Amino acid sequence: MDLQSNQVRLNARAANKLDAIRQVGQTLLDAGFIEAGYVDSMLERERVANTYLGNGIAIPHGLPKARDLIKNTGIAVLQVPNGVTWNDGETVRLVVGIAAKSDEHLDILRRLTGVLGDEALVQKLAQTTDANDIIEALTGERPAPAKSVLPDYAHAFEAVVPNKTGLHARPATTFVDLARKFQAEIRVRYGDNVANGKNMLELLQLGVNGGATIRVSAQGSDAAAALETLQAAVLAGLDDEPETVAAESAPMLGDHGWTPRAGIQALSGISAAPGLAIGRVRQHIQRTITVEDQPPSDPSSEATNLQNALDASQQELDALYNEVKARFGGAKAAIFRAHSEFLNDPVLVQETVAAVFDNHSAAWAWQRAINDRVAMLERLDDPVLAGRAVDLSDVGQRVLRHLTGVGNDAYFSSASPVILLADDLTPSDTAALDPDMILGFCTVRGGPTSHTAIIARSMGIPAVVAAGESLLDIKDGTAAIIDGSNGVLYLNPSPSDEQAALAARSAMQQQHDIAMNLRFEPATTTDGHQVEIAANINRASDAAKALETGAEGVGLMRTEFLFLERTSIPSEDEQFAAYRDMLSAFKGKTVIIRTLDIGGDKEVPYLNLPKEDNSFLGIRGIRLCLQRPDLFIPQLRALYRAASYGNLKIMFPMIATLEDWQQAKSMADLVRNELNAPQVPLGIMIEVPSAVVLADMLAEEVDFFSIGTNDLTQYTLAMDRLHPVLAKQADGLHPAVLRMIDQTVKSASKHGKWVGVCGGIAGDPKGAAILTGLGVSELSVSVPSIAEVKAVIRARSQADLQALAQKAINSRTAAEVRAL
Ligand code: PEP
Ligand code: MG
Repeated sequence: MDLQSNQVRLNARAANKLDAIRQVGQTLLDAGFIEAGYVDSMLERERVANTYLGNGIAIPHGLPKARDLIKNTGIAVLQVPNGVTWNDGETVRLVVGIAAKSDEHLDILRRLTGVLGDEALVQKLAQTTDANDIIEALTGERPAPAKSVLPDYAHAFEAVVPNKTGLHARPATTFVDLARKFQAEIRVRYGDNVANGKNMLELLQLGVNGGATIRVSAQGSDAAAALETLQAAVLAGLDDEPETVAAESAPMLGDHGWTPRAGIQALSGISAAPGLAIGRVRQHIQRTITVEDQPPSDPSSEATNLQNALDASQQELDALYNEVKARFGGAKAAIFRAHSEFLNDPVLVQETVAAVFDNHSAAWAWQRAINDRVAMLERLDDPVLAGRAVDLSDVGQRVLRHLTGVGNDAYFSSASPVILLADDLTPSDTAALDPDMILGFCTVRGGPTSHTAIIARSMGIPAVVAAGESLLDIKDGTAAIIDGSNGVLYLNPSPSDEQAALAARSAMQQQHDIAMNLRFEPATTTDGHQVEIAANINRASDAAKALETGAEGVGLMRTEFLFLERTSIPSEDEQFAAYRDMLSAFKGKTVIIRTLDIGGDKEVPYLNLPKEDNSFLGIRGIRLCLQRPDLFIPQLRALYRAASYGNLKIMFPMIATLEDWQQAKSMADLVRNELNAPQVPLGIMIEVPSAVVLADMLAEEVDFFSIGTNDLTQYTLAMDRLHPVLAKQADGLHPAVLRMIDQTVKSASKHGKWVGVCGGIAGDPKGAAILTGLGVSELSVSVPSIAEVKAVIRARSQADLQALAQKAINSRTAAEVRAL
């Protein structure tokens, strides 16, 4: 009789005998041997007869009258390494569930009795992490390297995976996130291998490449809805990053036309980010933490250490996600969500905990569990999966740092600009890079679609990956040129090579430089209309950079970052210091500070807010502040105390009704009176459609509007801004959104009120042009976009931009607007 790996469940835990029987019954059910009712019969049998066999083995099975509930004869094995108490103190570690229609299973029973006498073998089988050991002991044959034979569920669809790199970490996270929204069990088949659609590691191990056909099947009450959602998401590319050069930061164009002299020493790799970098190299030797095993003095407190390390890592990843998202956008930050997914892999965590209770240190157990999986991914000999192995090691090291108390100094830092060489850069390494100190980088490993490459492109840093091991032999200080556009690192270039490269690069940058040179000039159209260009920044430490880049003020400070990057609520004094520093740095220029905007996509774990079914429609932004004076009042106090240090305006997020505004304003007035503080302009974000509709009434009362197009787009189009499928269509340049903006500007101007825009489209050159044409007074954009947005406005007349804006609001689709 056959015994397959899907019939063996390793490393299970069972609360008691009945729980163990239910679990082994479930395995029989999942493997398709029985109807659900047979499990009840197994439990019933146990009540009338003890199925303990001896030597830590039990063989639960159903009553004869339940034979009709058996589809095929089969057995299942539940391994419970920590044991479960059976009857009178017998400890069972191997639970062999039997569903026998006739007597095909007798052979296995015979072998089982053979095993019974061999205490060492039972011991081994109770602890093994390889299901094949159990299969071999019970069938006499060791299976060929595993090919999963899990059957598909009845409802299914087949689809070709359209993304170029297949089901790698980001799309797999999207898939798992969606799958988990449903109760149905979901399987994904690729060839002979099947993965649980809710388990990220299993999905990755399928090794699905772009263009491959997968079969997704589901079972459960909402199976049909799950399949419909997943099919749409797979076909839409699972929110994968388009493999184009990102244009959201100071762009370095790719086509520089430079080639070096013949015979120059060169290492070829793969282009990861375009442009030319000329400088001296520095090796970044990564410190990998390796730990030796040590029995813990107390396994329970060791397990708590593990939990704390996982929690701390989770918090870091949340902060990184938010930070990278604010700097480079959600798609680039998604990798850190994928990392969280690894942290939450129940099998990984269980395996580690089990090893701790088996007298190993948490650090060693975690290291072993991660290393096993990394090795498995690397064995698959697939460049994309090898990239995922890097992500897994990155998460592994993050947790080990917490477990061992080794600090963050593993990340690269340099006092002068260099070309960085490294074996590979983890996403965490890359997020920690100071773009001012890195001219470019080149790695031994990696791929063009790795997260590192994507982030390098966003930072505008030329990069080459997969340049080979010899990269690590290059001495620090060697002169080099990175041709990121063509994927080559040139060593010891001649002076004329360097000169030619420099010339090519400067030609390339000329356009960018013109914009940068004029960055302090106002954004005035050719016919004399001026728009204020401000920066969206979140910390006082970014102020210098914003000012140097031509910011005329701050149009949006997202104060939630003060709350997100830590583990407890910042005190009033801490907040005061942050606001004071921000206002002082801007020396009288306008600084609009937005009160706390938490909820929706911005979670602050330590606030323990209740989970919302529809977080974007729930208690977020001002709604939370009005409900939580303990958060709102200290923030308002800190703001009013800081007011005298500069030109402060306070702005409330997510105002949907007049009552929202009035309540927020009266709390602000209360605090101001208490402190005897100066009056400052109070404004609101226009990001909810009801606020647009009420804008004429709101404009009578407020001092200013700032349009948050990110949220206004999601609420106007009813498309969740984080939705894996819809987010791409949620374009702020949709005529429906532009009409909302038009209406807001008109309502405000009736009352002589000022309108700015601080959402993402303000920093998009096309968006900036249309918004100016619609008559907004200020555009608040991310720092790298400031100079470019100014240049766009200076190149046109306001009359032209008004005509453009009229065409835009009369277009029928976002695509038509973009094509104008
Ligand atoms: C917006 O919604 O456009 C906005 C600027 O606020 P946030 O992105 O922080 O929600
Ligand atoms: Mg918003």
